[in-house]
Amino acid sequence: MKVLKFGKIEQVLDRLAQQAEVYVPMLRGQQTGFYSWNTYDEGYDDLMFDILNVYQSPKHVILPQTEMMYRFRQEGQDVIIDAEAQEITPKIIMGIRSCDVRGIEHLDAVFLTKGYVDEFYKARRDKITIIANACYNPGTNCFCASMGVNPTDPEAADIIMREVEVGYVWDVKTEKGQAVTKQIEDLLEEEEVELFPLKRFLRKVDYEGVAEKLKDMFDDPMWEKYSEPCQTCGICTYLCPTCYCFDIQVKTWGEEGYRFRCWDSCMYREYTQMAGGHNPREAAKERFRNRFLHKLQFFTERYGQPLCTGCGRCVVVCPGGVNIIKIIDTVKEAKTGA
Ligand code: SF4
Ligand code: SF4
Repeated sequence: MKVLKFGKIEQVLDRLAQQAEVYVPMLRGQQTGFYSWNTYDEGYDDLMFDILNVYQSPKHVILPQTEMMYRFRQEGQDVIIDAEAQEITPKIIMGIRSCDVRGIEHLDAVFLTKGYVDEFYKARRDKITIIANACYNPGTNCFCASMGVNPTDPEAADIIMREVEVGYVWDVKTEKGQAVTKQIEDLLEEEEVELFPLKRFLRKVDYEGVAEKLKDMFDDPMWEKYSEPCQTCGICTYLCPTCYCFDIQVKTWGEEGYRFRCWDSCMYREYTQMAGGHNPREAAKERFRNRFLHKLQFFTERYGQPLCTGCGRCVVVCPGGVNIIKIIDTVKEAKTGA
């Protein structure tokens, strides 16, 4: 087995960073997230490969929070469009957990399948290599296995790192993974090591049949009850590795400007506000219901899997204590529906 010893991790990152921007889990100030290794500050940041789920998933690497689409300027009667507004460089996401890899698989489904290819997304995705970190010891808020995710073998990973006593087994899965491995092969060591067994999940939920049942629960009183503590802050959507809604905005000055897209949240009133003033989801309850129906019913109907990977982030961060597990349990137990 090829093993990356703990003591060689920083050398590997330095080497990989010569060819690509490498995003790794770090504690930066009070916050954990995926940051570029090029910005690592030894006195301020801590590398966090051992943490289970950093606060911010690496969704922003593949779907930036704000993304330039094109610049334009008026010259006389003509409008000149510069579509090559930014250069897309190779990137590596290293240390990503299975739940967040599944998040990327969902983004792939949305932006690359069903007859539609989002060129901005595709340009980035083609240049991203995923080095996952397999989970053998699920955290207190993790329920990925209940949502159909394999914590030790994320499907879309190019390489899987498997933690052992001395470092990480380096398990190459794809050609992209082989190309990256070539750059650091001399830093890996051949050694027979034993993998840890997968420990028991503390949180479980039964999603089986939930999408079907929800078809008959649009007017269920549960939406009133569960949406009551929701403050429509939108933090759940921003931190969720699968939420992908964006808005398109324009910035102009004088005869020129640019168009960009940026993350949006279905929890906000303006999200469905129409030009004439009508809003089909005026009430917070309606927006709340839509979020969970999208995650647990609509996405499953269209793509065959729920738009929740069981990462547990929204359960942890919601200031109102909204818990998707309770919602799934309630649907499961409801007498109505299929
Ligand atoms: S984090 Fe909680 S309070 Fe904020 S929008 Fe999401 S469900 Fe509502
Ligand atoms: S809905 Fe919550 S638990 Fe599910 S993937 Fe999004 S943040 Fe994670």
